[in-house]
Amino acid sequence: MSSTPYDVVIGGGSVGGLSFASEAASLGLSVLVLEEDREIGEPEKCDGLVSLRAMGEYIAPEKDCIQSRVRSGTVFSPSGASTTLDASRLDVVVIDRGAYDRQLAELAVSRGAKVLTSSRVIGTETTPGGVRVKAGGEEYRCAYYVDATGPSGVIRRNRLGLIPAAKYEVRGRWVRDGEVEVHLDRRKYPGFFAWVIPRGDDIAKVGAAGFGVNSFRALESFLAGRGGEVLKKVAAPIYVGGPVADFVSGRTILVGEAAGQVKPTTAGGILASVAGGITAARSVWKALTRKDPTELGGYQRSWENRFGTEFRTMKRLRGIFEGLSNDDLERIVSLLSSKRVSERLASADFDFHATALLSAVGVKGTLQLAGVLISAEARQALASLVR
Ligand SMILES: Cc1cc2nc3c(=O)[nH]c(=O)nc-3n(C[C@H](O)[C@H](O)[C@H](O)COP(=O)(O)OP(=O)(O)OC[C@H]3O[C@@H](n4cnc5c(N)ncnc54)[C@H](O)[C@@H]3O)c2cc1C
Repeated sequence: MSSTPYDVVIGGGSVGGLSFASEAASLGLSVLVLEEDREIGEPEKCDGLVSLRAMGEYIAPEKDCIQSRVRSGTVFSPSGASTTLDASRLDVVVIDRGAYDRQLAELAVSRGAKVLTSSRVIGTETTPGGVRVKAGGEEYRCAYYVDATGPSGVIRRNRLGLIPAAKYEVRGRWVRDGEVEVHLDRRKYPGFFAWVIPRGDDIAKVGAAGFGVNSFRALESFLAGRGGEVLKKVAAPIYVGGPVADFVSGRTILVGEAAGQVKPTTAGGILASVAGGITAARSVWKALTRKDPTELGGYQRSWENRFGTEFRTMKRLRGIFEGLSNDDLERIVSLLSSKRVSERLASADFDFHATALLSAVGVKGTLQLAGVLISAEARQALASLVR
């Protein structure tokens, strides 16, 4: 379609880059994916919690990728008080992220894309007719370059949005199948939390993250007393900084975490990255077939139509969350236990939880909560959300 050997070269062979590749290849574009790791899907860093219903709108994980179904979520306050929310109607599952990445790679290849592993992109250069991409001692020419390199892509644009996280896979008799746990404590996990995501057979993906803390130490102390066998340890940054300002810059298109397409509340980014990849591919196809680069603008507009409002609300909730004291967190966990709130959350949308939470609590409830929070800034910010 273009005069270059490839229409598109993609740096990064994970959910964002591979969903772009499979959509672009199905539209007839010549596509090359360059992945620095030796194998697609390895090492697996992500916990794989997704809504099956929402993923089905894009590329649903095959049955083999699904490790377990989530029935409930329990939120623990700093003092250990807890509220269990029913998640059985939300259609949330835990997937094997390595297997899902391989599913996406196979789909892309079956549609005609080329995927090269052990190929690290070390630089790009824009020329009048396209882009030169340097990787593994080679140079690849293309009309457009897609940066889908995840945290290493976004760190150049918003370093402050990354939080170091530690994640273990643990086998223990204390793991409750189907029950996700979230542990809040401003002192131990400032700006984030510790989590337990069961994946079946008494095994859970257990993690901890927080601004300015040693996440491995925080996780070790979380696990102390619970016991069990640690099967795997991973260090990986999570991103909570929100979408970057511009998804497109000249002939470079950002997709997935490189574009900040990750929920600022929970750092879940699989759905928004797959959506980003597919939406971006359609716009690149239009730009190439109509020979009109302004078509690329449609990518950011479409993605924002779907996720923009929710991500902005999540970002404001994050700002409030970061200012909360442990006493405030106690009050919030207790509010979640109210029958009205928990019933409304039980039928909410897993991927649009910020809007769901505000609507479940209601204007009156939000203002009442704002009134009892300790932090004045958090009080004002929370009240402004419903005014
Ligand atoms: C501990 C943890 C738990 C998570 N749990 C969840 C969850 O439960 N649910 C959820 O929805 N999201 C979760 N996420 C977020 C989710 O993993 C990311 O949002 C998602 O993987 C982003 O996809 P991506 O394709 O943009 O980037 P990534 O998945 O980060 O992939 C980037 C790829 O680019 C490659 N790469 C990097 N630099 C180069 C280069 N120079 N050249 C070539 N290749 C390169 C990398 O090797 C990698 O394969 C979690 C993240 C972490 C860290």
